[in-house]
Amino acid sequence: MRRLAFVFIFLHFVAALPLGAEEIRLEGNFVQGGLVFGTTLPDNAVFLDGRALRLSFDGVFVFGFGRDAGPDAILQVIKRDGTEALRKLTIAKRDYDIQRIDGLPPNMVTPPEEVLQRIREEVTRVSTARAFDMVGSFFKETFIWPAEGQISGVYGSQRILNGKPRRPHFGIDIAAPTGTPVVAPAGGEIRLVEPDLYFSGGTIILDHGHGVSSSFLHMSRIDVTEGERVVQGEVIGAVGATGRVTGAHLDWRMNWFERRVDPALLIEPRN
Ligand SMILES: [Zn+2]
Repeated sequence: MRRLAFVFIFLHFVAALPLGAEEIRLEGNFVQGGLVFGTTLPDNAVFLDGRALRLSFDGVFVFGFGRDAGPDAILQVIKRDGTEALRKLTIAKRDYDIQRIDGLPPNMVTPPEEVLQRIREEVTRVSTARAFDMVGSFFKETFIWPAEGQISGVYGSQRILNGKPRRPHFGIDIAAPTGTPVVAPAGGEIRLVEPDLYFSGGTIILDHGHGVSSSFLHMSRIDVTEGERVVQGEVIGAVGATGRVTGAHLDWRMNWFERRVDPALLIEPRN
């Protein structure tokens, strides 16, 4: 309940920030796990904490804040004439739940020595896919839910698996029977298809442009191939129980490059 109120407060925040003679427009969630969408003159250069942001031909850009980001970030705009403007952005802090999951197979909580190499290689493939900076602003679409079903896990939760503290959870878990269709929440290009990763099982990464991507985990079926373009609402596969799971569900994650962002901040709440 607290989460829904929270989303409501931050969902439609709009700020026009005067930066010298020019204006930059920012819209989005100035909060841990939030994405912020901006527009400026296309021949400006924009940096977030010193990191260059891709601008589309019409001056659209995007950036995201990670789970533990903050308390602030610096947006820098350098105009064609060389003049520069800085703006300090305040990132709101969130409280995260603690989630305990018991009864997992022990080798999924503490992977055996012989699979560590495999896991490292898989992590590299996934992070390479998320590092891609594609032209195209599919992230501007209004996101839709990728699957029907009840929410069984939220972004950011601290996880205790079989009594052992582990990495936080970064996706939205949607509990649904194996075979439930999974659709693209927004358009983009399929960046990665892996039928059987150690932790996440059948996995798709869908690139929405400028470093924004969706990942879909634990899938039983994958209907797309790498490099394929998909439109919002198109079926890309089906819910499953592959990888480290206690039951069939879709784990939908979003990233801005390596930073984890919260898909729940982009869509209409579901109870
Ligand atoms: Zn999950």
